[in-house]
Formats: sequence, C-alpha cells, structure tokens
Amino acid sequence: MKIGIPKESLDGETRVALVPSMVGLITKQNHEVCVAAGAGEGSSFSDQAYEKAGAKCVKDNKTIFGESDVTIKVQPLTKDEAGQLKNGSIYIGYMAPFYQKEVLDILNKKKVTAFAMEFIPRITRAQSMDSLSSMATVSGYKAVLLAAAHLGKFFPLLMTAAGTVPPANVFILGAGVAGLQAIATAKRLGAKVEAFDPRIAVKEQVESLGAMFVEMEMPEDAETEGGYAKAQSDEFLKKEQEAIAARLPRIDVVITTAQIFGKAAPVLITEEMVKLMPQGSIIMDLAAEQGGNCELTEAGKTVEKHGVTIMGILNLPATLPVHASQMYSKNITNLFKNTFTKEDASLDFEDEITKGACICRDGEIVNDMVKNVLYPEGAK
Ligand code: NAD
Repeated sequence: MKIGIPKESLDGETRVALVPSMVGLITKQNHEVCVAAGAGEGSSFSDQAYEKAGAKCVKDNKTIFGESDVTIKVQPLTKDEAGQLKNGSIYIGYMAPFYQKEVLDILNKKKVTAFAMEFIPRITRAQSMDSLSSMATVSGYKAVLLAAAHLGKFFPLLMTAAGTVPPANVFILGAGVAGLQAIATAKRLGAKVEAFDPRIAVKEQVESLGAMFVEMEMPEDAETEGGYAKAQSDEFLKKEQEAIAARLPRIDVVITTAQIFGKAAPVLITEEMVKLMPQGSIIMDLAAEQGGNCELTEAGKTVEKHGVTIMGILNLPATLPVHASQMYSKNITNLFKNTFTKEDASLDFEDEITKGACICRDGEIVNDMVKNVLYPEGAK
C-alpha cells in the first residue's frame, strides 16, 4: 500500500504523524511511505531525514491525499482535505467526529474507512497505541512549565542569604494522565502539590507522586468500565466547588484537567471563586477546548481577571513538537501493525481495537456513540 503523511494544515500545528525513525517500521511490511515536502519541518525533521529513512518526499498535500491508500494525520481532516482523499482509501488520525458531521458525510460519500485515534479502546492491549494518554503526558508537563514561567514566584523552597522563600502551592484538579504528569513535574520543580479527582483509585497514585490528595466526600461509582470519570451530579459539583474554594486563598497555581469523554468539561472554578485567589496567581485550564473548568477561561487566550491570570492555551502538545511527534508516531505505528496484519489492505473488524476506533466504513457511520450524537433521530 501507499501510505501518505501530509503536512498538517491547522494554524500552529507543529507535529507530524510519522517521524523518520519510524518510517522503516512501515516499509519493512512492504508498504511505500510518501511524505509531503516540509511535513516534518515544524518538529525539526527534514525532508532529507525522511528520504534517508526510505520515504519518498512529494511536492504537496494534494498528491498525498489523492494517491494514498492510507493517509495518516494528526489533526482532524478539514472538509477540503476530506474531499481530496482517494475513493475507498483509509484514514487514520484524530477525527473529533462529534463536531465533524460534514466531514463524515464526505468520507461516507467517498467510501473512506476512517479510524479515530481518540476512539481507540482504553484497554491494556491498546496502551501502546493510546495517543490520548501520550499527548496528555505532554500537556501535563508543559502546563506546569508555562505556569512556572508566568508566575512571579519561585516554585522551590529557597534558603538564601537574602531570606527564605517558601515553596509555591500548586493545586491540580483532575488527576488522570495529564494531571498526574503535572503533579510529577510540579514536584520536580519543588512546589508543594495537592490534587483532587473523584475517582477513588486516583488517591494512591497522587500520593505515590508525593502530592497530597484532597479529601472530599467521594461520589459512589465515579468511574466507567473504561476507567473514565462519569459526569458528576450538580450536588456533588457544588460540594466539590466548596472544597476547592476553601483552598484557593493560599494557592499560587491551579492546573485543571477535568474532563468527561464526549461531554463539556465540568465547571470547577466559578468567577466568585477566582476572586478568592491571591493577586498574581495563575489558573492553567487544560480543559479549555471542552469549555473549560474555570468559568472565566477563554479558549486559546490568556486573560487577566480579578488579578488572576487565566490561561486557556490550546494544543499544548504542539509546543513540544519533537517528542509529541515521536510519541504520536509510536502510537500510530503500533496501531498500524495491529490494523494491517496482512500485506494487503484487508481489515479484521473482529479485532476490538480495529472495530472500536472505526468511525466510518462502507459509506456509513459505524460507531454507535457518534451515530447517536450526530443523528439522534436515527436518520442514518
Ligand atoms: P480525561 O482526560 O477524560 O479526564 C481527566 C481527569 O479528570 C480524569 O482523571 C477524571 O477522573 C477527572 N475528572 C472528571 N470529573 C472531575 C471533577 N468533577 N473533578 C475533578 N476531576 C475530574 O481522563 P484521562 O486522563 O485520559 O484518563 C482517565 C483514566 O482512564 C486514567 O487515569 C486511567 O485510569 C484510564 N485509562 C486507562 C487506560 C488503559 O489502557 N487501561 C489508558 C488510559 C487511561
């Protein structure tokens, strides 16, 4: 098969779906890899490096989309890109399918089989393909560095001839993959860290990283079978807000990562609560794209409200493009190996991962969750 890697078209996207060191894993299976010129330049991988690794560099994305049997991307396809895909080909990458009805229509018209990275089942066997986790690792790390760079204070305890500086107080809300990495990074920088997550299993993980788990009355049955958090009741969220509010007057940096898969992020910090924070403190909201965990977050912007800086930076993985691309690429090659066990393009939909990640196939949406959200009346 001809495997195509286009240059990402979204503004500010620096990642590439396949790095040169992993080209060989695909050509080894007797496939040809074609990369659009400049696809790796945002992540410091030159066209020459791709060619040396055995890929063919082609002039533009149009050739990649129009001629590839399998197109692999990072960001979801735009309508224009979907329209250029070869009929009956395969797409692998993020899809954001709940928000991309028109793109899915185009894919179905072209009988494209499309796999969404965010729908890879979160089972043990799929961990090496789980790009949500690898990108969350990047985000959690980078969020702390950006907050530390912005804060007008040291993170560590310092005892100097010019006086003693107490450590910064960092509060992490949501201790999934991003939150745990944020805890680890803030601890390495010497901050005093506390964290909360409604999934009880998280307490031990938080404590094992040397942070304090904030005790609250926990909801019963907070977790789905897949390990995700369920949406919490309004009553629980109100109690959670009260517990958070009690801590905010002495917190220097809050990093929020709370998300509910396929839904808007829960509001954990209201405007009234922001007013309780010290002047010069920071909220870094990693859920900005899903509406934000803070009521005052503006997606894609850094704003100052009531003396507090609220950072709603989007696409943090793109700010660490070399390793983010390497990790994504590793997830992709593992998925590729699992999807194409034979040299031809035949797919095994009995496989839990292949079936779980597939959104469109044979001209229709095959994922029930996506179908129900996009066509609640059952029109398709
Ligand atoms: P996520 O990005 O969907 O959510 C981030 C965190 O927000 C989660 O820990 C969630 O519990 C938390 N959260 C939700 N509502 C909250 C609230 N009201 N207040 C505070 N926090 C709230 O989740 P994620 O980080 O991608 O993954 C979550 C978990 O999924 C992991 O910790 C793990 O248990 C599981 N997982 C399993 C595998 C696997 O292969 N088995 C892979 C990845 C993740």
